[in-house]
Amino acid sequence: MTEEIEIESFKLDHTKVDAPYVREAGELTTPSGDIIKKYDLRLMQPNQGVIPTAAMHTIEHLLAGFMREKIDAIIDLSPMGCRTGFYLSKIGETEIEEVEDALISSLEEILETEDVPATTAKECGNYRDHSLFGAQEYAQEILTGFKSS
Ligand SMILES: [Zn+2]
Repeated sequence: MTEEIEIESFKLDHTKVDAPYVREAGELTTPSGDIIKKYDLRLMQPNQGVIPTAAMHTIEHLLAGFMREKIDAIIDLSPMGCRTGFYLSKIGETEIEEVEDALISSLEEILETEDVPATTAKECGNYRDHSLFGAQEYAQEILTGFKSS
């Protein structure tokens, strides 16, 4: 390999961040000139907190719709393998504050939700691994973190 590949998140000092937060994590310009933005939606403090898989999975299913209702041109919203947050990729620039406001109101919606979309074997790759109870417990904890920061 002659050209070294740099991964933005591998260069982030995870001991120096203060979650929950929203951070810009990358930008690409397509050949036709469109800007693709990536945001780090960090929900738990790295190496201190972690969201269990069932709660994380349910938060993923719920944020998929709630975030798209608030922010245009979302390409993807994916859980991090470390289960401390999500990455959001979208077309065009959105202010950090706007992404954070959308995240906070989406987490508030999770607290009010009574059902989770797409939880059948046909619609999901691991439909047995969901917890709305867990999603709401962690959403509450994350919201408390946002309010005290
Ligand atoms: Zn699923």
